[in-house]
Amino acid sequence: MSVTEDFDWFAPVLSIKGIGEALALKLTKLNIHCVGDLLLHFPFRYENHTQVTPMRCLCDAQNALIEGTIISANQIGRQKKRYIVGLRDPSGYCEIVFFKTFHSQETQWQKGSALRCFGQAKLSPKGFQMVHPEWTRLQEGIILPLPETLTPIYPTVAGLAQKTLRKIIHRVLMSYENSVNRQEDVLASKLGFLPAMMSVWEALKLIHQPTPDIDQHALVERQHSAYRRLIIEELLAHHITMLKIRENIQTEQAKALVLDAAKLDKFLAQLPFQLTAAQEDAWNTIRQDLAKNTPMLRLVQGDVGCGKTIVAALAALTAVSLDQQVVIMVPTEILAEQHLQHFQAWFEPFSVRCELLTGRLKAKERRSVEENIALGLTKIIIGTHALFQENVKYQSLGLVIIDEQHRFGVHQRLALREKGYDSEISVLPHQLIMTATPIPRTLAMSQYAHLDISTISALPPGRQPIKTLAISQSRRDEVIERIDGVCHKGQQIYWVCTLISESETLQCQTAEATFEALQEALPHWRVGLVHGKLSSDDRDLIMQAFYAGEIQILVATTVIEVGVNVPNATLMVIENAERLGLAQLHQLRGRVGRGHAASFCVLLYQSPLSEMAQARLGTLRDSNDGFVIAEADLSLRGPGEILGTKQTGVVQFRVSDLKRDEAIIQAIPEWMPHLKDLPGSYIESIVMRWLRRPDYVNA
Ligand code: ADP
Ligand code: MG
Repeated sequence: MSVTEDFDWFAPVLSIKGIGEALALKLTKLNIHCVGDLLLHFPFRYENHTQVTPMRCLCDAQNALIEGTIISANQIGRQKKRYIVGLRDPSGYCEIVFFKTFHSQETQWQKGSALRCFGQAKLSPKGFQMVHPEWTRLQEGIILPLPETLTPIYPTVAGLAQKTLRKIIHRVLMSYENSVNRQEDVLASKLGFLPAMMSVWEALKLIHQPTPDIDQHALVERQHSAYRRLIIEELLAHHITMLKIRENIQTEQAKALVLDAAKLDKFLAQLPFQLTAAQEDAWNTIRQDLAKNTPMLRLVQGDVGCGKTIVAALAALTAVSLDQQVVIMVPTEILAEQHLQHFQAWFEPFSVRCELLTGRLKAKERRSVEENIALGLTKIIIGTHALFQENVKYQSLGLVIIDEQHRFGVHQRLALREKGYDSEISVLPHQLIMTATPIPRTLAMSQYAHLDISTISALPPGRQPIKTLAISQSRRDEVIERIDGVCHKGQQIYWVCTLISESETLQCQTAEATFEALQEALPHWRVGLVHGKLSSDDRDLIMQAFYAGEIQILVATTVIEVGVNVPNATLMVIENAERLGLAQLHQLRGRVGRGHAASFCVLLYQSPLSEMAQARLGTLRDSNDGFVIAEADLSLRGPGEILGTKQTGVVQFRVSDLKRDEAIIQAIPEWMPHLKDLPGSYIESIVMRWLRRPDYVNA
């Protein structure tokens, strides 16, 4: 699909004259695949090569373009060889210094020839110097015109020179200019009521080739109206995609599920508590969703410990009461096992069979579990991603529950949804997604607009806020003393060893070392160790012992990050806290503060702390509110980090920024009425341009 007939935005870069395989490969590293990607490869700063500065007017530490005649060119120094070229212009003198030269260059630096140099002027005791400037030789009698626009400096990779990148982008821009000028920019005209609205072409031209009088700061900060034009388009592309997904979902069929009041009462009666008002609200919405014959697609977000599991269980009860199967997908085996215990206990009175399906099952066990699923004997299936595997066939999958969704990608979710697709009657399962990582509002509006969102905004009553302290590693002994005190009160402790290196093996070793050290330091108490390398049987034994209170101190890697629920645990120690993201720390901390006793979280850090790390740990110390923390994380680190982009498959923005462009994100729904009759082909082209993900578009 092309913007016009003669400019193909999506043509591969190899189709550009002068780009071969080697160069194309380098461009791939910059995430540049098609011709249009080059236009969306934006400069991070500019240089002004439009005016020659007389040498007399040079200023220390400032960039300048100078021209002069070579009056000397010598190699000097023995150990530290340098090549020094003396340049003179009518106003003064400047020395050009090269630490590294090629013979072919040296031959061009003949006395009497002229050079044009761009670089930073430095005042030395001997006068002005420029070290390794960008330079061109001026041929006698040939006038080399100065550029009329600022020179863009692009992000690049090793082996790809600025000059090359500039040349290619310039060429693409020219061919774009020659074609697109003839085409009207529909979006710009529809949104013509916005101040300083310009066409894509004008915006791109301005960004890649700004005139010297431009507000460079606004440009670099992407606050210029040229960027705004592109940002609007990108955010709109996302918004439209989300609406499209939503629309598609609403044309699909699902089995309407209604729970009878008697079963609900019986279920609730067995719980040792009453639902909070926030839980009631979420449940009532879900109940209405399930009663429809279009598939539910609802995200329930609520801070760690707010009680999402029981809400999910009520949805599961609704499905099983109509003989439908329920799949509960969780990110870790520990969490799967814990959920299994709860669900088994809750569903026993209803004679509903719950089973575990994880990657760790032995072949024989697994076959039998799968058989039970295929026959419809097992109604509630709890497991990890093994649930996706080809050979798992459901008898009648009515509901998919995804717990701790921030750990899963959009693709995994869609794959599971397909599982339940019954082609004969073409119905899809309902889907309930739960997350403790609250999605900041702007992110929700831009990238989750296809989901319905409910928020469980309050914790169950009687919870004590967790008191958080940041303590230097050097005071580790005090922390160990404190552990002793907690054990004496009959309470339990988590000690989390975090990622010191990417290697899981090393992480486990660190945990083992800490485990041994704590055993030695606290001989009166039982210490347990769980990490990813343990067999599931061994891990089960230890988790069981911890649940039962037989183990007082649990040393763990971040495998316990999500979901684990032991209300008697009141102290959490997190090592190397400065290396973790805020959201993850908040998740971990959420393992305590689940009972009635006061709980503490100790963030052990390696001094000295960077300013950023101080700010982050400070945020955590000052707030127990997941939403406040998520917003702070968003401004400190950017959205990708919050959601752990790699795992979530959340689409990254190319120019937009959730924080900076908040106003635009909020305005887009208001602009939609003006954009009702945008041509389908135009929409398709902007969606492809910005999302570059046809599979996602069709989701
Ligand atoms: P999360 O939302 O983090 O998944 P859980 O569902 O694991 O939280 O619930 C945390 C704890 O709160 C559990 O021990 C659960 O039994 C308890 N809980 C849930 N709802 C209530 C309630 N309404 N009143 C009291 N305790 C509750
Ligand atoms: Mg949970």
